[in-house]
Amino acid sequence: MKDSFNRTIDYLRISITDRCNLKCIYCITSENLSFLPREQVLTYEEVLKVSRAAVKAGIRKIRITGGEPLVRRDIEELVSEISKIEGIYDLSLTTNGTLLRNYAERLLRAGLKRINISLDTLNSERFKQITGGGDLNQVLEGIDAAISVGMDPVKINTVLLDDGVEEEIDLFLNLVYRKPVHVRFIEKMDFDDDCGSTSSIKCSRLIELVSSRAKLKETEGPFGFGPATYFKPEGARGTIGFICPYSRHFCSRCNRLRLTADGKLRPCLFSDIEVDLRPILRDVNFKDSDLLEKIREALTLKPESFKQAKRSKKITMRQIGG
Ligand code: SAM
Repeated sequence: MKDSFNRTIDYLRISITDRCNLKCIYCITSENLSFLPREQVLTYEEVLKVSRAAVKAGIRKIRITGGEPLVRRDIEELVSEISKIEGIYDLSLTTNGTLLRNYAERLLRAGLKRINISLDTLNSERFKQITGGGDLNQVLEGIDAAISVGMDPVKINTVLLDDGVEEEIDLFLNLVYRKPVHVRFIEKMDFDDDCGSTSSIKCSRLIELVSSRAKLKETEGPFGFGPATYFKPEGARGTIGFICPYSRHFCSRCNRLRLTADGKLRPCLFSDIEVDLRPILRDVNFKDSDLLEKIREALTLKPESFKQAKRSKKITMRQIGG
């Protein structure tokens, strides 16, 4: 599927819930604590209808996200059904890892071979503050469970905030020396003001801090289709990556569409533009061709870059899916 700027759009991020068991300070602010009424959230059957139509349109990779996807019941059934769709050659999932130790085995058996875990700190007190009371040990057990059942790659998404950044870099470097994980430092994106402005710590500063602590060699990095650049610290089992949406934005290589939990197809993370699929999905005379047409319509609306994206509605990653 090509968009109007001749980019190949073959990756669909599907948020299956806007609910989350954590309250990360940069993701859930006080004014957006309400959740979607359950009847507005797509059923798994509706998610599968969109997935099948999206594959017909040219989607080849699907990522399940949320809110927190593992809070939704019977998620392994959805994973198993999506992994059976002819034409999907990569299925992944992004989780905060707090429930992963109970799910890793079942998700792998259902067809999920790789996983991204969000973890912004390795300091348990800071973890409690950032996540609104979360328990760091649960995530560490989730990471070990994913590794021990054989998921590969196990990627870790880290939005480093200002507080304690040097200690955090020491801790995450230590983690990639000890474990075969791929830690990606991500510039925090601000949705409240102009998206091109502040981010907590720029990538250039992060790279400077990491390279002052470890000899880094640029490396290919693990299997995946995202915008990260990777380095392997000498002697480490894993890698360190950087995702720099502001300082080195990657809109020219954008390959994705996003489906929100209530069925809105969003062509750009930073834009209010969305195409509502729910009315079609719930139409008694549902036709696959109507869904395909809407997916193609969303593609034509995809802006060239976040600079052209118009955003007025206050929305957070929890509601979009990251
Ligand atoms: N609950 C799952 C998790 O924590 O990975 C999936 C949903 S969460 C919204 C997806 C990702 O978005 C997480 O990696 C989180 O760190 C990231 N995220 C949330 N708000 C962000 C922001 N303002 N800037 C950058 N990343 C953000």
